[in-house]
Amino acid sequence: MSNDPILQIRNLVKYYDTPRGRVHAVDHINLELSAGETLGIVGESGCGKSTLGRTVIRLHEPTSGEILYRGRNIAHLSRAEMKPVRRDLQIVFQDPFASLNPRRTIRQILTEPFSVHNVGSKADRKAMVEALIERVGLHPSYADRFPHELSGGQRQRIAIARAIALEPSTVVCDEPVSALDVSVQAQIINLLQKLQHDMGASYIFISHDLSVIGYLADRIAVMYLGEIVEIAPKAALWKRPLHPYTQALFSAIALPLPPSVARRERVVIKGDIPSPINPPSGCRFRGRCPVAQPICAEIAPKLVDVGDGAQVACHVAIGVTN
Ligand code: ADP
Ligand code: MG
Repeated sequence: MSNDPILQIRNLVKYYDTPRGRVHAVDHINLELSAGETLGIVGESGCGKSTLGRTVIRLHEPTSGEILYRGRNIAHLSRAEMKPVRRDLQIVFQDPFASLNPRRTIRQILTEPFSVHNVGSKADRKAMVEALIERVGLHPSYADRFPHELSGGQRQRIAIARAIALEPSTVVCDEPVSALDVSVQAQIINLLQKLQHDMGASYIFISHDLSVIGYLADRIAVMYLGEIVEIAPKAALWKRPLHPYTQALFSAIALPLPPSVARRERVVIKGDIPSPINPPSGCRFRGRCPVAQPICAEIAPKLVDVGDGAQVACHVAIGVTN
């Protein structure tokens, strides 16, 4: 893994204007992704993970901010300008039932990336598609089947094949195993890991499940209501989760807890995630936080370096209370 950043996200904002108001889905996020790295994004449903993943690869137009891909700001490139970049930035969606066109054969689905980007002759493409199907662990005879003839895990293998067809530098994996039976989740995770190893690609791996993230990620960003509240290398986060929200996520998983959390009582958060329309002032987590202080209502905490490559946005964790 080299340290060259493939992607640098600066002050990225994505708001959705709806009849009920402005949804702060992604609110001033800064991130870097290195070549070959897996960055995990974790947080409850609705906190903006999918919006972030889709916006950084320009499936959505950002409201503001910069997306530097290999140093070039792609945030506002036109469709035509994006086309050559598009093959480098791919995505695997959560639901392989919805993401594959039911009227097309696997061969048609997997030929498309090659034909859209003019890769290979017609004859080459036949062999390339079959090699691709084998690469994701299926028999080439699957080429002539339709998605409905495949199991969920097999469909997700095809969705992965489509994403890697052109050897992308970066793949957003948006809850790629959340819709699958537990028995096939590990197979798909192992396949994604093997492909990453072979391609040297960077992954942004999104999951609401910290245990899945912990299995794969080199670094983990914890999101809450459109913001990153903590970001740290996996080992640092496992050793010392600092944000009360991160601690609560750890409390909710069945894994052995990091010693720093296990020694305390489990942190159980109450209530639902607040609306991202008119998010709370100050710290967005304060209404559910077991250790909130008066300052948390007044001043929004910024991400602060806390050593070991970790950053946390919490007044209490960094000892600023009143
Ligand atoms: P996650 O992937 O973490 O579950 P999302 O990124 O899907 O979160 O959603 C973040 C917030 O943005 C949610 O409040 C969601 O309802 C809202 N949202 C997502 N897509 C749209 C859209 N197209 N229009 C309006 N609101 C949206
Ligand atoms: Mg999502």
